[in-house]
Amino acid sequence: MSEFSAYNFKGQKALIRVDFNVPLNDKFEITDDTRMRAAVPTIKKIISDGGMVILMSHLGRPKEGPTDKFSLKHLVKHLSELLGGTTVFFANDCVGEQAYLTANMMRPGEVLLLENLRFYKEEEKGDVKFAEKLSKLGDVWVNDAFGTAHRAHASTAVIAQFFPAEKRMFGLVMEGEVASAEKVLHRAEKPFVAIIGGAKVSDKILIIENLLERATDIIIGGGMAYTFMKAQGGKIGSSLCQEERLQTALDILKKAEAKGVCIHLPPDSVIADNFAADAQTSVAPSNNIPDGWMGLDIGNMACEQFSNIIKNSKTILWNGPMGVFEMSKFQHGTKAVAVAIAEATQNGAFSLVGGGDSVSAINQFGFAEKVSYVSTGGGAMLEYFEGKVLPGIAAVNS
Ligand code: AMP
Repeated sequence: MSEFSAYNFKGQKALIRVDFNVPLNDKFEITDDTRMRAAVPTIKKIISDGGMVILMSHLGRPKEGPTDKFSLKHLVKHLSELLGGTTVFFANDCVGEQAYLTANMMRPGEVLLLENLRFYKEEEKGDVKFAEKLSKLGDVWVNDAFGTAHRAHASTAVIAQFFPAEKRMFGLVMEGEVASAEKVLHRAEKPFVAIIGGAKVSDKILIIENLLERATDIIIGGGMAYTFMKAQGGKIGSSLCQEERLQTALDILKKAEAKGVCIHLPPDSVIADNFAADAQTSVAPSNNIPDGWMGLDIGNMACEQFSNIIKNSKTILWNGPMGVFEMSKFQHGTKAVAVAIAEATQNGAFSLVGGGDSVSAINQFGFAEKVSYVSTGGGAMLEYFEGKVLPGIAAVNS
């Protein structure tokens, strides 16, 4: 593998796998361009070297071949604007004749966007022949799509075999993601706190187990905390609970104790008589919630306790909200955690926030600039922290 920043793209056609899977409204307008903006520095570096940029991505989950709804043509105009007015050519098939002709006629500084890779079922199947066809479009393969790095698709991993090691590399998005995840996983300065929230214990078991080998403290909040409360004999009313995971919760607590990792559960909760924005609310110990009531956020005592742990940490990993932050009555706990992380970061801690909902929360509260790194890949980030090898990373490294 080559290092992107050190590589000179002059006269080279760089085939970049980007993650342009952006949300579009009914009028095909982009409602959140974060992923497109993230790729701009990678594209600009290649242009400024005098290289040619060929972009490939998926968009949505098209079921049966090409459809207007999932066409990447809707992104051309905005991409051109993001690149300061650079003309962006579009090929309405990612491997057809037009794609090859356009790619062959490109001049230095030009940008070509290919049509949705998933219009071919071969993409998700990781078809070798399809990957080979794609590979013919470029001289160098750049993987900059962290969001799909956990998939062994044709364009994200299988294609690597058609480029020699010095002609495959991470783009700047991937470089940033890998560097910050590696720092937390393998070079974490202690104390290291992991804050894990969200709805289900089952989604987070593997990440917690891997973190038991690394973290000093693990804070567990959100809906999943009540499965832990019930497992220890607590009364949780009608709070979220995964009955089939009660034993798993006890096993995690036991393993943590054996390894000397402190698991922190919220001592109190904001409870509601209904899962609704206008529900009646009250506060109760998290292990003594009255019948008919449910815990929808961590309480003030928990906020204070969790904030102190976070502020005393040197490495912070956050995945998952502390409550139903989408409703204003239940967002206090998630906000308190975001504030504490921002403060710890200002005082020199390294903080990494990842996973769809914690990223939306941090954006919603305006804290994205106040943490060290915000990961762009939900599923990929989770699998990375579960300790799995991601095919999109292995393909570049091998
Ligand atoms: P996840 O996708 O597992 O990270 O879960 C995120 C979702 O968990 C968000 O939509 C939250 O609203 C939800 N959530 C967080 N805390 C609770 C809770 N105490 N009860 C029910 N849902 C919750």
